[in-house]
Amino acid sequence: MNLLRFAFVTLTTLGFLSPASALHIMLDPGHGGIDTGAVYGPAKEAELVLTVANRLKALLEKDPSFQVSITRTQDRNISLPERVRLAEAKKADLFVSIHANSASDIRAKGVEFFFQNNLPPDEESLFLASQENQAMITSHEMHEVSGGDEVSKKGDVAAIVEDLRRQNRMLSSLRLTQTLTNVWETDASAASSTIKQAPFYVISKTSMPSVLIEIGFLTNPREVKKLLNKDYQGDLAQKIYKALVSYKEKVDNSAAKTLN
Ligand SMILES: [Zn+2]
Repeated sequence: MNLLRFAFVTLTTLGFLSPASALHIMLDPGHGGIDTGAVYGPAKEAELVLTVANRLKALLEKDPSFQVSITRTQDRNISLPERVRLAEAKKADLFVSIHANSASDIRAKGVEFFFQNNLPPDEESLFLASQENQAMITSHEMHEVSGGDEVSKKGDVAAIVEDLRRQNRMLSSLRLTQTLTNVWETDASAASSTIKQAPFYVISKTSMPSVLIEIGFLTNPREVKKLLNKDYQGDLAQKIYKALVSYKEKVDNSAAKTLN
């Protein structure tokens, strides 16, 4: 069993993931109000990401598989801690932050997905790559968690559960990010997409799985033209929606397999 699958199975068994219940998405259009984000000519990041987020919100609202909240619906300023607080208060299952990129090199283009796992990148890749680590987790924690009567100290259980929560958050964020890339990769006409890691505040501080999407570069003359186009904005919302649908299917399938 690979690590992703193990985490999903274990968390489902523990009741963290319930199959087929609506997935609560907290959308987070970046910036707003006095904080305009990147501005290049007519393109304002705060406005652009709000438009895409609102279109995505409309798609999610029509789908009973999802529940949707948003950190701001208007062009107003909202602090980063407040965004995190809102997501926690709503007990959202996923946090999706939407931004637009800028770079000193005007050739920079494409969509970037950022996820955060609270480990330095080198440790993270070690963690993901290590078969020994995987085997250790499977035999040790599975035993501790499933062998209820053998676990005597409440503190031990709490520590294991906390550990699993952290693992779930990281692995689910990674899975979500990979699902997003898959959607972009299957559309030949879509902008290129990459997965990156960076300690952005909103995706570092939220306790639920999270992703930060940079929808394109405002500094790239060709890309900014597309980003200002209403159809293209709708297409971006559609793509993110498609990825969320596919992510939810994966969660539900993992949960169903465990329960059957
Ligand atoms: Zn931004």
